[in-house]
Parts: sequence; structure tokens; C-alpha cells
Amino acid sequence: MNTRATPSGITVVCLIGTSRCGSTVLQAALAQFRDVAALGEIKRLRQLADAHAVCGCGEPIERCPIWRDEVAGFLPQHGSRFRMAVNALAAAVGAPLLGTEARAAQSLGRTLKDIARKIPSRVFVDSSKDPDQLLLYMTLPDVVVIPVHVVRDPRGVVQSAGRRTGIAPGAMAKHWRRLNGATLALRRIAPRLPWHAITYEDFYRDPAGACRAILRDAGHDGAMREQTAAQHTLGGSPGFSFAGTDSIHVEDAWRQTMPPDMQAAILRESGWPARHFGYRLQG
Ligand SMILES: [Zn+2]
Repeated sequence: MNTRATPSGITVVCLIGTSRCGSTVLQAALAQFRDVAALGEIKRLRQLADAHAVCGCGEPIERCPIWRDEVAGFLPQHGSRFRMAVNALAAAVGAPLLGTEARAAQSLGRTLKDIARKIPSRVFVDSSKDPDQLLLYMTLPDVVVIPVHVVRDPRGVVQSAGRRTGIAPGAMAKHWRRLNGATLALRRIAPRLPWHAITYEDFYRDPAGACRAILRDAGHDGAMREQTAAQHTLGGSPGFSFAGTDSIHVEDAWRQTMPPDMQAAILRESGWPARHFGYRLQG
């Protein structure tokens, strides 16, 4: 189990999940471990740089010493459900991806190699959160990828996303079903990858233990950093700050405040993936 990481290769923990699923906190918790670097939403590098967004180090991305030289050559993928389905089947059998995604994968591979030269880490965390980002990693021969499917109760996601962006409950629940359904399907067609599925609720019970379980597959010994280090993290939740795994609190106000009929409607819209993870009206 712990020999997947090759000494010369790069190991990437690839987080997949909806918005408000806890991936930002999970990524920050992982970066508390030695030799783990949180790179954030790499998929959005160009978009974030164009918007003059700030890197986790505090510099605007276009001035960050880690990212500034990567922006111009970085190719985003297009992403549509049809293209993703075709690419998923291709990646599963080792066939080439469609043209745009194949070029995006090459550019991602180049970027990672550059980053690995600049940040001496053994494990990198990508919190792009989209299943199609995993497809790119699956085709990179020098990269060991550890997919982590992060799942949160759709009622919690709907409430949290609604408060933050105003998105309607039905639209968010449908997105929840599609993204988690696609990820479960991907897991089925790529069963040889060292998949982890972690629920928000379990993660909050034992954050450090959850991180160690993931890092074990990267051959990591589970040692934490002695002091926190600046991370060159892209994107993430606005205003997010992290004071360590001891200070993590689960946010589940929906259990008290959400009317039962609304809970039932969200669970219905969230469909079979919600049932797969055991999210039910009672409990
Ligand atoms: Zn930076």
C-alpha cells in the first residue's frame, strides 16, 4: 500500500467534490504535514490570474514567484459532460484523451514539474474539485495520483452554498447529484487507482487521522510540520483562514434550521448518490 510513490515521480492528492464540501479545510489540514504542499485550484490558474486573484502566499498570482511563470503557458480544459465521458473511457483503457484535454494534460504535467522544482515537497494537493481534472492526471506517466472523493450531506451543501452565493436549493442539489454521480462512475471505471472517499462528517470527527489515511498511500510517514509554512494555494473559499486541525468545527446548523419538507426535497433531488452515502431523512 505504501510503495506507490516513486522516488523520482510526483504524487498528487486530487480532491474531488462539490463546492462547500469541506475540501478547503481538508487541503489546509493536509498541508500541516511535512513535505505536503497545497496548490489549490490549479485548473483555474489562468482564470484566477486574469482576475488578479491573490495566491495563498499573499502576492497576486501574476507576481507570485511560484506561479507567475506558469500562467502564460497553462492550457485549461474545456469540460463538458460528453467530453468527460469520452475521456473517462479513454483514460480507463490507456487510450489518448481528446485533443484539447490531451494538450491540457501535457501543460498540467509541465506546470507540475516546474512547481516541484521550486517547492521541495513530496506530495502536492490539487483542490480543483472537478472529476475531469483527475482524468488529466491519469494520463501523466510520471505522476502518482491519489483521488479523494470528498462528500458532504447535500442538505449541508445546499444551505452553505445558498448562504454564500444565493444559489437555489434545487439547482445546488442537482449539481450535487451530477458531480457525485460522475465521481462514483469514474471510480467504477478506474478501480485500480488508490481511491479514498471521505465524508465531511467523518473528516470533522478526526481530521488528522483522515489526513494520515490519505497520506499513507503516498508513502508518507504521517509526521506533521514543526511550524506552519506559507502555501502557494490558488482559489479556495474567500476569507478562509486555518488555525490548525484542533480548531476545526463542523457546520451543521441545517439539522436544526431546515424544515423537514425541504430536507426531503433536497434528498430526492440528490438521488442515488445521496442514498449511496447513506444520507437519509432521519439521521
Ligand atoms: Zn504564491
